[in-house]
Amino acid sequence: MMQNKPYFCPNCRSNRIKFSVISSYSQYFLKDAVTGEIREFGDQRPIEDSEPTIQCLVCNFAGNELRFVKQAEREPRTVTPTNPTYM
Ligand SMILES: [Zn+2]
Repeated sequence: MMQNKPYFCPNCRSNRIKFSVISSYSQYFLKDAVTGEIREFGDQRPIEDSEPTIQCLVCNFAGNELRFVKQAEREPRTVTPTNPTYM
């Protein structure tokens, strides 16, 4: 589960908004022992990670969610009423 907390990319330190979450899946399959051909695919099943992996969509850095949360705690965004854009 992703935390409902601000993120700040610890790598480029310019992004607080655009991210993707990287999930892992497990998918069962059967292989032919002689030819190596794949015979059968099962359903994809998500693997529950205790901590999601987050990717910054500005610099493509990926890391544990906690790194993004900690960086945001170290450098919180200051609210400036004169500047309504969210960067
Ligand atoms: Zn970044």
